[in-house]
Amino acid sequence: MLNRRGMLAALVAAAFGSKVAVLPAAEVAPGSQRRLPWRNWSGSQQCLPAARVAPASVAELQELLAGGSGVVRAVGAGHSFTPLVPTDGTILSLARLSGMVSHDPVTLQATLWAGSRLGDIGAPLEQAGQALVNMPDIDEQTIAGCLATATHGTGANIGCMSTFIEGLQLMDARGQLVDCDRSQNSDLFEAARVSLGALGIITQVRLQNVAPYRLRRETVWREFDEILAIADSEADRHRNFEFYYVPFSGMGFTDTHDITTEPVSTTEKLDGNEGVRDLQLARDWLERTPRLRQLVLGSYMKTLGDEVTVENSWKNYASERNVRFNEMEYHLPREHGLAALREVRTALETQHPEVFFPIEVRFVKADDIWLSPFYRRDCCSIAVHRFFEDDYRPYFSTIEPIFRKYHGRPHWGKLNTLQVADFRKLYPRWDDFAAVRAQMDPGGRFLNPYLAGLFGPGAKQ
Ligand SMILES: Cc1cc2nc3c(=O)[nH]c(=O)nc-3n(C[C@H](O)[C@H](O)[C@H](O)COP(=O)(O)OP(=O)(O)OC[C@H]3O[C@@H](n4cnc5c(N)ncnc54)[C@H](O)[C@@H]3O)c2cc1C
Repeated sequence: MLNRRGMLAALVAAAFGSKVAVLPAAEVAPGSQRRLPWRNWSGSQQCLPAARVAPASVAELQELLAGGSGVVRAVGAGHSFTPLVPTDGTILSLARLSGMVSHDPVTLQATLWAGSRLGDIGAPLEQAGQALVNMPDIDEQTIAGCLATATHGTGANIGCMSTFIEGLQLMDARGQLVDCDRSQNSDLFEAARVSLGALGIITQVRLQNVAPYRLRRETVWREFDEILAIADSEADRHRNFEFYYVPFSGMGFTDTHDITTEPVSTTEKLDGNEGVRDLQLARDWLERTPRLRQLVLGSYMKTLGDEVTVENSWKNYASERNVRFNEMEYHLPREHGLAALREVRTALETQHPEVFFPIEVRFVKADDIWLSPFYRRDCCSIAVHRFFEDDYRPYFSTIEPIFRKYHGRPHWGKLNTLQVADFRKLYPRWDDFAAVRAQMDPGGRFLNPYLAGLFGPGAKQ
C-alpha cells in the first residue's frame, strides 16, 4: 500500500518522469582538538572558545566568576540562530544545574534550576500538580535560554514564556548572587526577564504555572485564501492557534490546541520531518516549473486528512525537528500580520523558487518586559526558514524589508541584520536595560562581539 509520503514521491516522479532524489548527508563536525569547538544547532554560529565549563554547584559557578577573568558566555541548548553565544573566552553551561528546586501547591509556582530542558520538566511538574502555561514548538531548549530570548508558543491571549516568570536568581560578573522579583530589585527583574544572557548567569527561575491540563490538538489542511479568511477569528476562538503556508502549493494547515477532558488518543500522523524532505524533493525536481510544482503539491495536500491528538499538555505542544534549518522570525503588530504574510508569499514565490520550507505564523499577547519583542503590542509572528546547508542570506534579505516595513521586531534568537540604532528605535526601554546591564557587569565580562555591538562602549551612536 502507498503511504502518504510514497504518494507524493510518486506524484513528483510522475510529473518529472524519473526516480526519487536522495538528500545529502548532514555535515560532520570537525575532528577533535585540544580546545573544544562549539557550534549551534543549525551550524550558523561557531567558535573555538578557550574553555568550556559546566559547574556542578552554585559554589563552583561563584569560583569561576569571582576568580576568573575574560569573557564568559552562558549557553543553554545552543538552539539560537543569532550570535549570542560565540566567544573566544569561556562558554559556560548550566547543564549540571537542572531539575526542580521546590514548588508551592497553593500558588502553583515552581522554582527550577535554569539549566533544565523544557522536555525534562513536564513530568516532574505534573507530579507536583503543575504544568507550564504554554510551550514553544520544540522542547529541547533550557529554561534560561528560552527566557533570555523571549521564546514563545502561540496563543493570542498568552504571553511569551518570560511572562510566566515570578522571580529570578542570577549571579553577576563579580560572583554575587542576586534575587529579584516585582518588589525586590524590581528594575533588575524587568531587565532580567528577557536578558540576552547579558546581565549575568541565571541560576534559578520561579515560574507561575497552572494546574495540569489536557489538550486536543487538531491539524486541518486548507487553501491559503481560506486560512487568511479565518485566521483572525480562529486566533481569538482557540487557546492556541497557528498556521503554516507551504510555498508553491497554495495550501497550508492550521493547528489548534484547546483544553479538553477527552481521553488520550491520536489519529494517523504525517511525519513532519518526512514532509519537509518531500518538499525538498519537489523543489529539486520541479523548481523550474512552478505551475507543475503547485499542481503536484496542491493535489497531494488536498488528499491529507485532519489529524487529532489528545494528550497531556506538555506532550502535545512540541514536535521533533530533525531536518535542520536557519530561521528568521519577526513579531509584527497583530493588525499588520496577514498583509505582511501576503507580501512574503508573493516575494518568495516570484523570487525564490529554491525555497521549500513552510512559513510559520503564530500569535502572541502583549507584555511589558523591557526587551520583549512583544512589549506593549499584541503580535502576529511570521517565521521563514532555509535548509541549513543552503545560503539563507538571499531569501532572508528579500523578506526582512517586508517585516521591517510593518514595524516588526525580530526574535532575539533568530537571524536578522538589525544594529543597535535600529533596536533603540524599536525598544522604548532600551536605555533602562543598558543601565541595569552596566551595573551588573561594569567590566563587560558577559559581552561577546555581538553583545558589545549592542551594549559596549561604542554602542551609543
Ligand atoms: C528547531 C528550533 C525550534 C525553535 N522553536 C521555537 C519556538 O517555537 N518559539 C520560539 O520563540 N523560539 C523557538 N526557537 C528558538 C529558541 O527557542 C531560542 O533561540 C532559545 O533561546 C534557545 O534556547 P537554548 O536553551 O538553546 O539557549 P541558547 O541558544 O544556548 O542561548 C540563548 C541565550 O540564552 C542565554 N542563556 C542560556 N543559559 C543562560 C543562563 N543560565 N543564564 C543567563 N543566560 C543564559 C545565552 O547566553 C543566550 O544569550 C527554536 C529554535 C530551534 C533551533
